[in-house]
Amino acid sequence: MTVAHIHEVLGRALEAQKERLLPCVHCGFCLPACPTYNRLGDEADSPRGRLHLMQAVVEGRLEPASEAFRTHIDRCLGCRACEPVCPSGVEYGTLLELARETATKAVPQGLLTRLLLTVLGTRLLRGPFFLIGRLLRITRLAALGAATLPSVGPFRAARLILAMLASTMPWRPTSSEEVVSEEMASQAHEVIRRSRVAVLLGCVQEGLFARINRATVRVLEANGYDVVVVEGQDCCGALHAHGGDLEGARMLARSNIKAFEVSEADLIAVNAAGCGATMKDYGTLLEGDPDFAQRAEKIASSVRDVSEMLASVGPRMGASTPCRIAYDHPCHLLHAQGVEQAPLRVLQAVPDAEVQVVAGAEECCGGAGIYSITHPELGGLIGGDKVSAVRACSADAVATPNPGCMMQIGAGLRLEGSEEGVVHPVELLDESYQRAGFYRAGGAE
Ligand code: SF4
Ligand code: SF4
Repeated sequence: MTVAHIHEVLGRALEAQKERLLPCVHCGFCLPACPTYNRLGDEADSPRGRLHLMQAVVEGRLEPASEAFRTHIDRCLGCRACEPVCPSGVEYGTLLELARETATKAVPQGLLTRLLLTVLGTRLLRGPFFLIGRLLRITRLAALGAATLPSVGPFRAARLILAMLASTMPWRPTSSEEVVSEEMASQAHEVIRRSRVAVLLGCVQEGLFARINRATVRVLEANGYDVVVVEGQDCCGALHAHGGDLEGARMLARSNIKAFEVSEADLIAVNAAGCGATMKDYGTLLEGDPDFAQRAEKIASSVRDVSEMLASVGPRMGASTPCRIAYDHPCHLLHAQGVEQAPLRVLQAVPDAEVQVVAGAEECCGGAGIYSITHPELGGLIGGDKVSAVRACSADAVATPNPGCMMQIGAGLRLEGSEEGVVHPVELLDESYQRAGFYRAGGAE
């Protein structure tokens, strides 16, 4: 294969999108926002540096298979902290996915990355994987393994995965047996009927955090939304897109579009930040597909993070649930979706929950899909800083609305022997609604 042919075939994804590179004026405003640049101090590990590398591939000055291109593109967290600070509106997230596809087609990813993406990306493998995960969690073997395995060589990744699985346990058992005042029970009947809503179940969320999906349905119903069940929905495609498998992501997006169209829902509620960001980008993902481009735009425009829906109606107050909560922003909610205050408004609806935003909450936790497993050094460094910031809050639990962040921070806390739990904001609101007796009275159980 000649160099020209390599560029023609392998650089095609980026080449076709080269106009997306043009707005970059190389000002460097994005550099201080970038966790990898801040840790490594290398321009090639900054957003501007990576855009330079993409430009070089598009212009044929650099091979997609080159070490420089693959290494620095691979080292990007995909956190998109560089996007909101960019004065030129560079669509970095889209460009990164195209660059990853280009790099992956040039040289296949490492064995561990391919294994993890295959397990999480294939429905046949995903089911048994989550079942094993739940068994390890329930039997507490995950916690035991995380506590006893050494942090060296091949054990390091296994120890981290086990700590992640252990951290998917509920923060504390919730009770629906609390006594309710007559006043609260009667309020449950006064809810205004709102939009018809479908809920994305997701793969990791449904596989390991099904309780959060159930809590999402209950909380939406308690706030007057009419929740419809959508059969045939699939993984949103986020892991595929971030990992460079854009065709896999498009296939899943088409499948979801068909499923959600049938539901005739007005809105689609998503409780996982990474999934929400991907679904809101379905229009871009399928912009070259004549059959799906418009349909993708329409579905994307109906996607909301569940906190946006609750904040837009002013969530009902629950019953007293005393606790100290440290809140951390998931990158794909804050940077990719521009949602900052809505999850805090959800937490404000939990009486007696003292909420403190973690110092540096706008920086990535180092989880970034499978990044902390495939990049243990850098992911561990970034994750370690996050865990320290969470522990400095002296909270009972950290709240963050994304399963990847919940597992990454939860694993970090657990491996440091820390007591803090991990909770989704909607899960906490659900607990306060259970204490208020909304479900018994309103029938949202
Ligand atoms: S990506 Fe945006 S902020 Fe960064 S160098 Fe380019 S124009 Fe400046
Ligand atoms: S996505 Fe995050 S890690 Fe990647 S270049 Fe942007 S700020 Fe840096």
